[in-house]
Amino acid sequence: MTTHPRQVAFVIDLNKCLGCQTCSIACKTHWTAEEGMEHQWWIIVNTMPGQGTPRGWQEMGGGFKDDRLAPGRIPKREEWGQAWRFNYQEVLEGGMGTQVHLRPMNPDGSEPTWGPNWEEDVGAGQWPNAYFFYLPHLCHHCSRPSCLYACPRDAIYKREEDGLVLIDEERCNGCRLCLEACPYKRIYFNPRLEVAQKCIGCFPRLEQGVAPACVRQCPGRAVWVGFLDDQEGAVHKLVHKWRGAPPLHPEFGTQPNVYYVPPLAPHPIDPQGNFDRSRPRIPTEYLRYLFGPQVDEALATLQRERERARQGHPSELMDILIAYRFQELLGPFTVNPAQIPRSRL
Ligand code: SF4
Ligand code: SF4
Repeated sequence: MTTHPRQVAFVIDLNKCLGCQTCSIACKTHWTAEEGMEHQWWIIVNTMPGQGTPRGWQEMGGGFKDDRLAPGRIPKREEWGQAWRFNYQEVLEGGMGTQVHLRPMNPDGSEPTWGPNWEEDVGAGQWPNAYFFYLPHLCHHCSRPSCLYACPRDAIYKREEDGLVLIDEERCNGCRLCLEACPYKRIYFNPRLEVAQKCIGCFPRLEQGVAPACVRQCPGRAVWVGFLDDQEGAVHKLVHKWRGAPPLHPEFGTQPNVYYVPPLAPHPIDPQGNFDRSRPRIPTEYLRYLFGPQVDEALATLQRERERARQGHPSELMDILIAYRFQELLGPFTVNPAQIPRSRL
């Protein structure tokens, strides 16, 4: 598959993501609020290091190996986690005061042992050198989408105008080969409609010049959207000009189009209580596992430019990352959704 000249891409700054899940909820209320979609989170923010959503997705296979589709497996329902219910009635109307507390339940009433963001804020390392960061995760609208290659019904297609990867639900027969093939496990199965479903890149919004809900709603100003070939745009500059944002697991071979500014963290503290400047708190090896070898260059560039800015020198990279004006995150999709009738979004 050739690279689309007009590829919409996302950049997410992991130093700015708050883990607030506003993007997840914006997407959920927009696109996956219907029956059969209860367990679907087209974007979800996982605490890393962690098993993510679905549990252990990084080891489930898919993508390409030696130029062929690599074997993968379909995540089990319990690996996604259920859509929980809560005992609101018991707590609010049961008359038991502080003797009862809000607790989640699986749809069958049993106690959950896993959920979509089960490991929130757990991370890794020991106090005082524990560490974690948040990883928002959506479909990567890959330039070489293994889901598309695996579909025997030609139900998955990549749009010429923006490179979004979409599923034609009329053509989908629910065989779930795309779930096996996607190495990021970003496709869900809708048991009611018996079709595969996933992030649509908010294409009905893009077509009206409105940025995706996850970008528009992010209170951390952590997510940029734009066309990769727009040389004046923040996405192009962060990815290509500054090379400060590598993709996630590039070794999966699908040429993903979601890019991540890797997390920096304070140096660890030695037994005397001083910063140990000889090593990073977040092991670089772990970041290489996530973002490939390019992460070394990205981290070095970020540190160098941060230092320049601290010393009072101008830094285009730092200015872009700070995003002084909210509009800078939106690329060409600057239309205010409040001006568009809801039915058209
Ligand atoms: Fe397909 Fe998965 Fe890539 Fe999305 S992330 S385009 S579902 S292979
Ligand atoms: Fe194609 Fe649907 Fe099968 Fe996925 S589940 S491979 S979209 S037919």
